[in-house]
Amino acid sequence: MSAVHALRAARAVGVRLGIDGEDLTLEAAAAPPPDVLDLLARHKTCVMALLRTGRDGWSGEDWRAFFDERAGIAEFDGELPREQAEARAYACCVAEWLNRNAVRSPPDRCLRCGEAEHAHDPLLPFGTESAGHAWLHSHCWSAWSAARQAEAVAALEAMGIATPGGFPNDFEKNGGA
Ligand SMILES: [Zn+2]
Repeated sequence: MSAVHALRAARAVGVRLGIDGEDLTLEAAAAPPPDVLDLLARHKTCVMALLRTGRDGWSGEDWRAFFDERAGIAEFDGELPREQAEARAYACCVAEWLNRNAVRSPPDRCLRCGEAEHAHDPLLPFGTESAGHAWLHSHCWSAWSAARQAEAVAALEAMGIATPGGFPNDFEKNGGA
């Protein structure tokens, strides 16, 4: 969490951070200490990922806060060991990401293979009523779903939320987290 650390260190000395195109902008009443500037420079890409709002309306910081909140609930209310609490929080993040970045597709083509409905192989709507449906053959669903999950994992990773060891296989073995 070094980018999170850099962000906190900068804010602690009164630096306001922002994004201007591809640049990280700093505003401060007095010159920030060199070690803070050095931290920001080293973690610039990740700091920007934390600050930037994604197309789902959440910034990396929002995701981080969601993860921390879920982990806290699982640890203190659910009385899970920290590692398990974090694994559960991670699964919540993946589910939330998939929800917030839901995919819709027209009902006359399979989103995975691009083919139409066959008599023996109808197209089925996957997803939720509110987020909209993606239409797929039932046998195309698992590959599509795995690819979507990989997308969520990559997006969370880019925002500094690391994938716990064993995800997703161990999670599915235990019936999901
Ligand atoms: Zn298909």
